[in-house]
Order: sequence, then C-alpha cells, then structure tokens
Amino acid sequence: MISGVTNSKNRRLPQRTCVACRRVDDKHGLIRLVRTMDGAIEVDVSGKKRGRGAYLCPNRACWENALKKNRLDYCLRTRLSDGDRQLLTEYSHGSLKETCI
Ligand SMILES: [Zn+2]
Repeated sequence: MISGVTNSKNRRLPQRTCVACRRVDDKHGLIRLVRTMDGAIEVDVSGKKRGRGAYLCPNRACWENALKKNRLDYCLRTRLSDGDRQLLTEYSHGSLKETCI
C-alpha cells in the first residue's frame, strides 16, 4: 500500500506548467515566482503573493533554462534585471536539487 496519499480525489488541485520544461504538476509540485506590484521578482514560497506569477520545477536545470532562454521575462511580462537574475540563480543554487530525477 502507498502511504501518504490523501483521499481528495474529487478535489483536484489547480494544474500549473513549468515555464522551462512544460512539465505539468499541481501547484504544490512547482515553485511560484511572482512579479510584485512594484516590479520586483520574488520567489513566492507561500504561493499567495499578489502579482503576475510563473512556475518552475524545484530543480536547478529548469531555473537555469528559464533564465537562459528568457522564459521568465516572457511569462512575467517584464525584463529581468541583473539583480533579479542573480537572486534567482542564488536561490536555485541554495535551495534546489540539480535535476528532477
Ligand atoms: Zn521544469
């Protein structure tokens, strides 16, 4: 038997797509990034911040891809500053695994 599975079959979580690899998962399986009202890019761990959001897998490869291909700029309708990029790179190196698998 598989333990730790909740019995909420009829309450499907909203599905989100990683902007780097297009993997679809529920919102708890991906990390939300948000562009806040004042234009700053933040890692939204709570998933509740107001602003335009984009989702990435919790692995470094997707973050690097998203930065390299300017996916986040596109999805967040902004241009990431060097500071934003550095913040996201540092976050990915500090908090994320190298790959999904
Ligand atoms: Zn991904």
